Amino acid sequence: MIRTPVPQASSTSREKPARAIWQQELADSIRDIDRLCDLLELPTAIREQARAAVRSFSLLVPRDFVARMQPGNPDDPLLRQVLPLAEELQPVTGFGTDAVGDDAAQRVPGLLQKYAGRALLITTGACAVHCRYCFRRHYPYEAAPRRLEDWAPAFTVLEQDASVREVLLSGGDPLTLTDDRLSQLIDRLETIPHLQRLRIHTRLPIVLPSRVTSGLISRLQASRLTVFMVLHANHAQELTGDCATAVRTLVRSGLPTLNQAVLLRGVNDSVDAQVDLNERLIDLGVIPYYLHQLDRVAGAAHFEVAAATGLELIAALRERLPGYAVPHYVQEIAGEPHKTPVKVL
Ligand SMILES: *Cc1c(COP(=O)(O)O)cnc(C)c1O
Ligand code: SF4
Repeated sequence: MIRTPVPQASSTSREKPARAIWQQELADSIRDIDRLCDLLELPTAIREQARAAVRSFSLLVPRDFVARMQPGNPDDPLLRQVLPLAEELQPVTGFGTDAVGDDAAQRVPGLLQKYAGRALLITTGACAVHCRYCFRRHYPYEAAPRRLEDWAPAFTVLEQDASVREVLLSGGDPLTLTDDRLSQLIDRLETIPHLQRLRIHTRLPIVLPSRVTSGLISRLQASRLTVFMVLHANHAQELTGDCATAVRTLVRSGLPTLNQAVLLRGVNDSVDAQVDLNERLIDLGVIPYYLHQLDRVAGAAHFEVAAATGLELIAALRERLPGYAVPHYVQEIAGEPHKTPVKVL
């Protein structure tokens, strides 16, 4: 089922447009530790440590995602991705605030380029969920452009550099933009003749499936650019219910759809969890693209899995799944000209 925005009964030009269902759901997301713990019947000890850790990076999780968690289970793999823990506050050597070299890769405000032929536009600092392991949890989004005019320098660079064939919309999450804003941005990119492809990196279809509206899909289908969707799911349990329906809708709309996951301790660091995730993805028609080694960002050290373990998981996947279901296991090394396959040193 594709959810369409609520029809506007008596709209005049002065009234604000009615909010789409997904915008309402985003506004109703859980931002309070006690709310989350009440909904999931979690013990008091968890609340206390969560309250301390939340100060470094706020809690945000849509109800639809919470509904896919198992009540009473502090180790639930979906909960672990969003629940602040005391471990986040422990400084760990090697874990810093610019783990992936974003500062050095900025060409102009809001435009990063690390690799040949493709450039990444920071469309917004907003996400629909705050993932505790996020490599951008310390990104200085305040300095990123907010309005279409603010992206002018980025568009100029893209216009003048014919070697760029692909633009990645990232953030934050580009699908937190309204259809209107997103469409304006795409309109502008479509005027740049050498651009061929648009890639949308988003977690919204996973955490807020109502974002997959017919309006969004038609705009992307109508683009002269070839649009790739890159989703971000880490566990098979995310790909159930409304989310499975939304992902199928995307796939059946004809947009090539890939997934990237992050290897996370206590979430997906077992053979069964990896087999289930990647098989579930291909069952839905989504190609597993990358499995990322965790970026070493301050506050996320407790999620790290040893590279040797990751390589064993990949070897096990090769034995159990079709070749196209096995993601590339990569890490981002600042200054390298591409994502680097993980090897044990
Ligand atoms: C990861 C990344 C990309 C995309 O790399 P692919 O290997 O093409 O998926 C592009 N630009 C930046 C800045 C990135 O961090
Ligand atoms: S959705 Fe992506 S960018 Fe946003 S917090 Fe999660 S990992 Fe970070």
